[in-house]
Amino acid sequence: MPPALPIAADLAAQIPQPRVFLEGNPTLELNDDPNYAPVIDAVHKTFIHLAHSDVAPYVIASIQSRIKAQALDEGTTERRVLDAKVAVSNITDFLRDSTPCIVLRDMTDGNPSVAALQWGTVLKGDKPTAEHNIIYIEKTLAMVLCANATPPPDVQSPTFQRDSALVMLSVTVSHETIHALNKYTFGAALVTPKIGTFEDDIDNGKSEAGFTFERDFYNYRLEAIWEQSKFADANTRMWHMKLMFKNPAVTSLIDSDVDEPEYLQFNPTTVSTFIASLSTHRPMDIWAHRLTTYDFDDLSQASWLRFHSLGTAL
Ligand SMILES: [Zn+2]
Repeated sequence: MPPALPIAADLAAQIPQPRVFLEGNPTLELNDDPNYAPVIDAVHKTFIHLAHSDVAPYVIASIQSRIKAQALDEGTTERRVLDAKVAVSNITDFLRDSTPCIVLRDMTDGNPSVAALQWGTVLKGDKPTAEHNIIYIEKTLAMVLCANATPPPDVQSPTFQRDSALVMLSVTVSHETIHALNKYTFGAALVTPKIGTFEDDIDNGKSEAGFTFERDFYNYRLEAIWEQSKFADANTRMWHMKLMFKNPAVTSLIDSDVDEPEYLQFNPTTVSTFIASLSTHRPMDIWAHRLTTYDFDDLSQASWLRFHSLGTAL
């Protein structure tokens, strides 16, 4: 297998460092706080990877072209959709010229139930202008990465927990970036239409472009799992998250430790490989043999091979 080439410094430098805020009274900008440097760096590297890795711009353009084709099939007369330009360069142009702001927010709305937790969302608004170009991220997911975050004493592998949170943050930012880009390309109010090759949006019976990207790009869906007793405390919950591979993934809460065979648990090698790949041209490859267990069904195995036929030898 050829080595994964790093993304060249001049390409990486095209994508500005995102501005990151902590929502509150007052809302604070975090870019000058050195404790938040790992959070800002993780988001920045994710943006650079989406803009400049070998595969991401093509996967994203494919999603956008299917959305436009479906809207045309349905006979849309909306100017903003008819005029929308779909191109492989869209994601690069967007992240370079209209870099989204990140706002860390309590996405549980004060309700310490996993059912209430949203990992991220984009600001809904009528205008795809700069001040509406915001991605909200669950704040506890980001804050576990802070340089001064202290693990609770019962955490056995703080580095692994922190790296797992970084993977979840990166995937969440990628997912929301797809929504932010679609808003930018097609106009603010676009709901992804129902498309047969997309993942379903269980909330509205239509399709979900962000999960479709996760499936098509990473080739898996992430699932975060906690023991019941470990979720409620917002200050420590991310230190106890178990990151799993599952398809389809939904955030769920279970009573005991995880041993269902359909779950594949990430291990330290998997997460460090993912993090290293953020800085390279190669897709963020989660290799089956690096996972703790290997239990793909035929469909997953086929799709795994399809993914790697894009340019890397298995
Ligand atoms: Zn979504």
